[in-house]
Amino acid sequence: MALPEISFVIPLYNEAENFETLIRRLDELMSTLPFAAEVVLIDDGSKDNTTLLMHSIAEGDPRYVCVFLSRNHGHQLALAAGMKYARGGRAIMMVDGDLQDPPELIHEFLPFLDQGYEVIYGVRRKRKESMVKRFAYWAYYRIMTKIANIDLPLDTGDFALVSRRVINLLNKMPERNRYLRGMRTWIGFKQIGVEYDRFGRNAGTTKYSFGKLMSLALSGIYNFSDLPIRIMTYLGGFAIGSSLIYLITVLYKKFFWGNVPTGFTATIIILIFFGGVQMIAMGILGEYVLRIYRESQQRPLFIVDKVIQDQEEISNQG
Ligand code: UDP
Ligand code: MG
Repeated sequence: MALPEISFVIPLYNEAENFETLIRRLDELMSTLPFAAEVVLIDDGSKDNTTLLMHSIAEGDPRYVCVFLSRNHGHQLALAAGMKYARGGRAIMMVDGDLQDPPELIHEFLPFLDQGYEVIYGVRRKRKESMVKRFAYWAYYRIMTKIANIDLPLDTGDFALVSRRVINLLNKMPERNRYLRGMRTWIGFKQIGVEYDRFGRNAGTTKYSFGKLMSLALSGIYNFSDLPIRIMTYLGGFAIGSSLIYLITVLYKKFFWGNVPTGFTATIIILIFFGGVQMIAMGILGEYVLRIYRESQQRPLFIVDKVIQDQEEISNQG
């Protein structure tokens, strides 16, 4: 098979219910593309039929490359694995396996690639999700753009067409706590957003547990903002400031009124309050230490069990 110009990179974690539709849509889409394309599917340690389905597609069709991870590594690391194995010479399109982001949008993205844009990302105009989730996303993205030290675009996920040059650069970034949309923005060059409506899931339920979503959100904040560590300094400043004000009031009262109220309750409250502030400060500090520790362990980002490429299975011998 001729080397593909474009690779679709799609992480799958228990997406058996979506598999057939996904493949049908991709087959149709690839037949409309004027050049060779491939699909890199990553099995992120699925426990359902996904693994089996992936085997049969990759063994029968050389346009499909399947990477099987040794266990569930999480969406961001699965994407990292897909980007390593994708051979697309011009660009790589990141898509979700649940078809929330239509892969067909590549037709709208491609003209920008021709114009020299290196990252063309989808911007969600509307999204089909519960009220609470929509609000949480809305608030998070707005807070992030305020506190981040890079210009993060609003309402943008990992859904994007990314040039080979940027993919090579991303592959060289060894950080373990990955917030891909931030890393992608950090790289720079010409980038542009294209608006689209985000659909609901094709089938099944979200594979992002609350914990996984929180940890992604926190990685965004810790990796692209200095605010958490600065907050401690601000809080310290606030504590000293308020105690000085208190001291001045007490002294004033003593000299001009002569009676200083001896408040026991106030002391306790202040004690507990600043005890709590110190704990939080230590927790934030601990978070940085933990992240430094994780990075210093230098573990590989993900472990591959086996790969099926050009209909041939290669298992990882470690
Ligand atoms: N996914 C993954 N590993 C995980 C969680 C999710 O590979 O640990 C995949 C999932 O199969 C889907 C994509 O990442 O293709 C996005 O996940 P999902 O649709 O569940 O997230 P949501 O759209 O609800 O944020
Ligand atoms: Mg989804």
